[in-house]
Amino acid sequence: MSKSVAVVLAAGQGKRMNSTVQKQYLLIQNKPVLYYSLKAFEDSFIDEIILVVGSGEKEYCQTEIVNQYGFSKVTHIVEGGKERYHSVFHGLQAAQECFVGDGKEYVFIHDGARPFVTLEILERAYQNVKEYGACVVGMPVKDTIKIANADKFVETTPKRDDVWLVQTPQVFSYALVYKAYQKLMEEENNLLAQGIFITDDTMVVEYFTQNTIKLVQGSYENIKITTPEDLQIAETFLNKNK
Ligand code: C5P
Repeated sequence: MSKSVAVVLAAGQGKRMNSTVQKQYLLIQNKPVLYYSLKAFEDSFIDEIILVVGSGEKEYCQTEIVNQYGFSKVTHIVEGGKERYHSVFHGLQAAQECFVGDGKEYVFIHDGARPFVTLEILERAYQNVKEYGACVVGMPVKDTIKIANADKFVETTPKRDDVWLVQTPQVFSYALVYKAYQKLMEEENNLLAQGIFITDDTMVVEYFTQNTIKLVQGSYENIKITTPEDLQIAETFLNKNK
């Protein structure tokens, strides 16, 4: 029997939203963004959920989100850190308690600010992680991408078919990703000194393991609520899917 745990991230400031309320708590049709993300995991084959929240928000999340909506799979609520990757590491540390170390253990790392993840996406990722040990949900880009130089001139144009926008969940064999994150914590200052900033989980696995990472089709609706216009788009998606 394999076991799957979701680490759902809801820490961080979300400065791009220009709101005093963090984006994961903003309401779409009277429910917080985070409700929709947690609901997708609660209603799926996932066994346990670890919720990573901002400093001093554990109690609020326990009563206003977990108890309020009856999310019975949330077994741990932990505080995140300064950067997203610190929050992930805290979640992965807590996940140790969920696993016995038999090798068939998977962790789904998900942005709480992505409310439109579906069961279909989770199932696709699950099939792929069992086969490849590491996979990331994403979509091929629709626009042409340019790589810029430091002076903002176009340096190159990658072949469009080869370029994907990655989303979450990013899904890994637990032992693989936990070891990679442990190395990241040891090497963090070296990476920063080289100007390398970790922006997603697969980057950590790319840097610190030999494992390949499979790209899995997500959906163009699996957006991250980042700026105010994303909330309007989210309302539209919810109305359409009703
Ligand atoms: O800020 P960004 O858009 O990268 O956030 C992506 C996700 O990571 C959000 O769900 C946010 O709550 C989470 N995050 C976190 N800890 C941080 C920064 C972001 O849990 N320090």
